[in-house]
Amino acid sequence: SQHTSQQSSQQSSQQSNQPRRSYAVKEVEKLKENREKRRARQAEMKEEKNALMNMDPGNPNWELAKMIRDYTSQIDFRPLVDGQPIDDHQITVCVRKRPVSRKEMMKKELDVISVPTKDQLLVHEPKTKVDLTKYLENHKFRFDYAFSESHDNEMVYKYTAKPLVKTIFEGGMATCFAYGQTGSGKTHTMGGQFNGKVQDSKNGIYAMAAKDVFAQLRGAKYRHLNLVISCSFFEIYSGKVFDLLADKQKLRVMEDGKQQVQVVGLTEKVVDNVDEVLKIINHGNSTRTSGQTSANTNSSRSHAIFQIVLRPPGSSRIHGKFSFIDLAGNERGADTQSANRQVRMEGAEINKSLLALKECIRALGKQSVHLPFRVSKLTQVLRDSFIGEKSKTCMIAMISPGLSSCEHTLNTLRYANRVKELDPEKRQDD
Ligand code: ADP
Ligand code: MG
Repeated sequence: SQHTSQQSSQQSSQQSNQPRRSYAVKEVEKLKENREKRRARQAEMKEEKNALMNMDPGNPNWELAKMIRDYTSQIDFRPLVDGQPIDDHQITVCVRKRPVSRKEMMKKELDVISVPTKDQLLVHEPKTKVDLTKYLENHKFRFDYAFSESHDNEMVYKYTAKPLVKTIFEGGMATCFAYGQTGSGKTHTMGGQFNGKVQDSKNGIYAMAAKDVFAQLRGAKYRHLNLVISCSFFEIYSGKVFDLLADKQKLRVMEDGKQQVQVVGLTEKVVDNVDEVLKIINHGNSTRTSGQTSANTNSSRSHAIFQIVLRPPGSSRIHGKFSFIDLAGNERGADTQSANRQVRMEGAEINKSLLALKECIRALGKQSVHLPFRVSKLTQVLRDSFIGEKSKTCMIAMISPGLSSCEHTLNTLRYANRVKELDPEKRQDD
């Protein structure tokens, strides 16, 4: 029956001997039908996953899995779909849940996160009463947007960094932070999807933003500015700055009389097209991880900063700047108990910089002049991004779905919650 209805709608539109409205009505019906099919398929997949869980009483978490299932079965899931409006904020704070990995599935890791709507996220935290019965504490968090495991990098980009591209053409500073525990998806989101150990940088926020920068540069609105685009890529490790485009050369940070902060000698490569930017990203990424046995050893303790700078032709003045920051793993801030002095110091430095960052973003939101930017290298080098009405920032809080990450996940969500004060009555968890 679907086949014939499609045929007749085609006919009527071709011959236009019927009112156009009937075509539109049929289109709407088709959309509705597709939506229902999609929902049914989603329900089926969920059912399958549940059946697997039920068939597996060997899983030590099956009781908890059932509790989560019972809880979520009461929810009407209405996630963010493409086409929903993109709001204009000075500060945007979002959360992104990554999928359960294959490795976690093998370990029968329990998924304790649900994303019911476009701006809400639930953490189903297992608890035990004094009589040892188990129960769930369901924490509800609200952000500007909530992305689930079924949202891809493109969708995340569209609602976070993309709206900030025009900011830098209009003479402002833009920043995009990836915050979260090691392994939660920061580098995947910023730098692109991994296929094994190789990263497809085209698919990351750095590259998608660069592509849009070039599109704007050549577009009717800003073409006359003849802006020159350049890129830099550096890393802050233990309070020191290293140039990722110059073999990790150590650089000094200086503040001039006008409170302008400069990274002395930082490599800035002028670029003419997206391919050149991609080469720079790949170069920087390989420098960042070179000499490491695992991608998470050192890079989890450093902040990586990729910048796109716009300048008027022949001038050293900055017209606008977009900074993308792949932050150090926030769990490292708790390394202050470590027996290793070096690790302890690095942990303290990370902790300090993340707290200062939160305060600087909050200060931007209040247009406050009291900016604790000198507290850490990270906030010092980003100083100009926290000043001015034109500056805009977005933070994507990344979380892992598993039960074993639950505590870190709650820490991440609470931090993100405080970066931006939502209406008090809308703040659900503290
Ligand atoms: P982080 O940089 O926060 O330590 P990564 O970006 O390295 O975390 O991600 C950890 C692992 O999870 C990687 O193997 C990555 O490919 C995978 N991953 C992260 N986010 C996603 C996602 N949204 N979809 C699929 N895989 C993801
Ligand atoms: Mg990483």
